[in-house]
Amino acid sequence: MTAFLPYGRQTIDEADIAAVVDVLRGDWLTTGPAIEEFEADFAAATDAAHAVACANGTAALHLAALALGLGPDDSVVVPAVTFLATANAPRYVGAEVVFADVDPKTGLMTPDTLAAALERTNGTVRAVFPVHLAGQCADIDALGEMAAAAGALMVEDACHAIGGQDQAGRRVGSCKIGAMATFSLHPVKTITAGEGGVVTTNDDGIATKLRLLRNHGIVRSDFRVPVEALDSAGHPNSWYYEMSEPGFNYRLSDIHAALGRSQLSKLGEFVARRTALVERYDRLLESLAPAIRPSSRVPGRPGWHLYVALVDFPMLGLDRAAVMAALRARGIGSQVHYLPLHRQPYYRKRYGALDLPGADAWYDRALSLPLFPAMADEDVDRVVAALETVVSGR
Ligand SMILES: *Cc1c(COP(=O)(O)O)cnc(C)c1O
Repeated sequence: MTAFLPYGRQTIDEADIAAVVDVLRGDWLTTGPAIEEFEADFAAATDAAHAVACANGTAALHLAALALGLGPDDSVVVPAVTFLATANAPRYVGAEVVFADVDPKTGLMTPDTLAAALERTNGTVRAVFPVHLAGQCADIDALGEMAAAAGALMVEDACHAIGGQDQAGRRVGSCKIGAMATFSLHPVKTITAGEGGVVTTNDDGIATKLRLLRNHGIVRSDFRVPVEALDSAGHPNSWYYEMSEPGFNYRLSDIHAALGRSQLSKLGEFVARRTALVERYDRLLESLAPAIRPSSRVPGRPGWHLYVALVDFPMLGLDRAAVMAALRARGIGSQVHYLPLHRQPYYRKRYGALDLPGADAWYDRALSLPLFPAMADEDVDRVVAALETVVSGR
């Protein structure tokens, strides 16, 4: 009996375990040196000036929205096909979300879909949050230029794309165009800390703000109330701190950071293995066209997170639930990324029924197949063979 193949899972080795144990034997479980070490390595890996670690990818997006100073008079353009958190983050700060449609074959926001969304913002747009779905980069040069022309900043939701390069060969997260990029360290993502998130930026002021907001807004220098802060000799009182704006407890623990750092050291290896598996799927799936095809490719070197196949379920004469059940019966997990956000009850109630045909068409066909570095080539063969029997109705 072969083991069940989930659509994604973490790859943990003895070095990861040792890194966590080291922290447990040390003095600092949180706010210790492992955080700065992880952040320094993350900034180097993404080619960004600053990497700010936080509790999870959702907190990273929330911190980004806070650092931009977004509020109730503002709107943010978010692609309709993404995880809930991309749109929920602007809502946390009271900003409105304007959903952009996506290319039905890549699931990505495009210059055309952004243009259509910008028209619906009525001049309130302050930010654009493109998502590098499955690991492929949205066209950030064009999107960034359009955002700037509209007076908006760009934050890349790069939770799927760590370790990749965009169409111009820049590392994902290097923030050469956008103000910030956000990452998740959830176990299903390319590298994990158990839970964790990171924001990268090249802007010193934004980095300072992110660090402040992840730790309650606590300041230990540049005090506003010196009479309270300083002793008679003019030195800061050791117990004293100030808060000018309430922040959050969005810290990452040293335990998580040590795991994240150990995982980060294998990023290149993980991405290379994911890429090889993607190439194998692409080749083997050719025999199942036109009923099942890979999603379309855009320029760049993806840090693949998901392998999304586009399935013409009506052509197969089967619905998605039946195909997923047939795969599960053969020990193969699959998933759907994602139910478009404009169709979620909360957003439907807030913004009404939106016509986003690209997002709906993507959702109608998308099926994520198993993809994680510990998979063997034979695992890909097994998935495609299972799909073959489903397609041929055997
Ligand atoms: C995983 C993910 C998030 C949220 O990350 P968490 O660490 O789970 O909070 C946000 N956006 C996208 C696109 C994601 O895939």
